[in-house]
Amino acid sequence: MQREPARLVAAAGRVQADLRRTTDHPWTCTIDDDLVLTVSDGARSEQLALVAEVEDEDWYAPAGATPGELGAGLDADADEVVGTEVAEALRALGLTWPVCADHARVLGNCSGAWYCPGEPQHDIAEAGRLPGGAAGARPVPDSAGRTLG
Ligand SMILES: [Zn+2]
Repeated sequence: MQREPARLVAAAGRVQADLRRTTDHPWTCTIDDDLVLTVSDGARSEQLALVAEVEDEDWYAPAGATPGELGAGLDADADEVVGTEVAEALRALGLTWPVCADHARVLGNCSGAWYCPGEPQHDIAEAGRLPGGAAGARPVPDSAGRTLG
């Protein structure tokens, strides 16, 4: 099943809101018609191509799902892929985001929910509802553990 651009664009809006709220910086997350994600703060930007197919169709779009279940599943898939890829783009720009304030671990996104790998693993918030101040972007440490820039 193909990903729907409109769902990915909506997910990018949610992740952009998370990014702005947690960094107090005017980041933009946009997705074009070719499913290329662009993450930019106006001065620097990174682009990544999103996979066009829903990667775990049995989970997100199972046979027999009602239209409502299918829509919710596809939105969760969109949030997960956009959240994950925005974090990847930021890493390429030298920023670790989002970070758990309690454990200093990079959050993952599973089915639209930001979670901290722990220890112990715990859920933080749905995409679009990441609390401000809890998970700002941090510079990526270099191999010696120092932070750049
Ligand atoms: Zn944590």
